[in-house]
Amino acid sequence: MLPYTAPPTRQHGALIKRIYTWVRALRTQEVMEKERQFIMQTYARLPIVIIEGRGAVVRDAYGREYVDCVAGIAVNSVGHCHPKVVAAIKTQAERLIHTSNLFYTEPQVELAEKLCRLTNFEKVFFCNSGAESVEAALKLARKVTKKKGFIAAENSFHGRTFGALSVTHHVKRDIFEPLLSNVKFIRYGDADAIRKAIDEDTAAVILEPIQGEAGVIVPPPEYLREVKEVCEERDVLLILDEVQTGFGRTGRWFCKDHFKVQPDIMTVAKALGGGFPIGATLSNFSFERGEHASTFGGNPLACTAALATIQVIEEERLVERSERLGTYFMQRLSETIGGCDGVKDVRGKGLMLGVELRERCEGVVHAALKRGVLLNCTADRVIRLVPPLVVEKSHIDVVVEVLSEILGTTPQPPGI
Ligand SMILES: *Cc1c(COP(=O)(O)O)cnc(C)c1O
Repeated sequence: MLPYTAPPTRQHGALIKRIYTWVRALRTQEVMEKERQFIMQTYARLPIVIIEGRGAVVRDAYGREYVDCVAGIAVNSVGHCHPKVVAAIKTQAERLIHTSNLFYTEPQVELAEKLCRLTNFEKVFFCNSGAESVEAALKLARKVTKKKGFIAAENSFHGRTFGALSVTHHVKRDIFEPLLSNVKFIRYGDADAIRKAIDEDTAAVILEPIQGEAGVIVPPPEYLREVKEVCEERDVLLILDEVQTGFGRTGRWFCKDHFKVQPDIMTVAKALGGGFPIGATLSNFSFERGEHASTFGGNPLACTAALATIQVIEEERLVERSERLGTYFMQRLSETIGGCDGVKDVRGKGLMLGVELRERCEGVVHAALKRGVLLNCTADRVIRLVPPLVVEKSHIDVVVEVLSEILGTTPQPPGI
């Protein structure tokens, strides 16, 4: 086995750096083989080993660079290894990493206050992932309403644990049944369908404000307001899952702000920790002692990473940047590939964009990888573009060029 190869430091000369790269490249095959041997084969990975990243660019073991339009699935919003997030994690790691919630810690209460102010909620529960934040939301809804049923959307995605999976439509479920009973799936974008589906046992409606895994599905502008009204009329809670759409991704702090809707419960995770795992459930309702808990939830290291991430989003005005560059990205895509035969639709909000193809998009993803662009394909035919919010215009231009080259288009005149 080859030795672990730490990244070369600034003091190393060019030759040493090349030797490091060469040794790492040799390891690529070994890493892939070990993955196959020792890790449960649940993921379809692209054939590169990523070793480092900075901003919107990552580098593989061969030293090749890629413009990252995946961002760890809408996680690395402040870019890879943002110096302020790195510094905050380093300092906190040297001071205190974990305590459990049997004690008080400063980062946790500071982050709680910050999140409540940003989202307009009174209380937060901290956990470690998106699925966990949904679990807490579902439990809280049952507790508050004393009812059991849920209504979710077709093609929804809320996570893979049993509760979250029960309200998820998008993935393999059958072999894990029985799941939660009394979950109804209705057509996304149709508030009347929810009105009809509500019964005397419905505790809550759970929705993504823009469906991510389903292929970046943006609902009609009035949809969420109508849903909220129906829920209020019928005494049913509205849970908005902002795990993917939160923290500036769609050009607002939260996607609910586009639609001017305040849900009863909101879930967040992905971008919150800038890459460090952390999730949260927000509401004006609350659990009481003993009703819910998490050993790691809100630990000082995770909360410090999240505080630094939010501070960077504020200081660098990344929410505004997401809206501005999202508009630019969308416009450039529409101009270049929007009219081409293989493309059915270009859509999205802010830097959460989807290019729907007429065929499966794996081929495009592999072709883009060869040309130095990381893409993700979701719902078989949709290229999901969710770059870090710090992405540069020049990066976007590269991605547009690569996509139009692959899709073999003759550029259309502007505005089409
Ligand atoms: C990713 C995602 C989840 C699940 O998050 P995990 O951290 O993978 O558990 C839940 N809801 C939405 C909308 C997501 O995009």
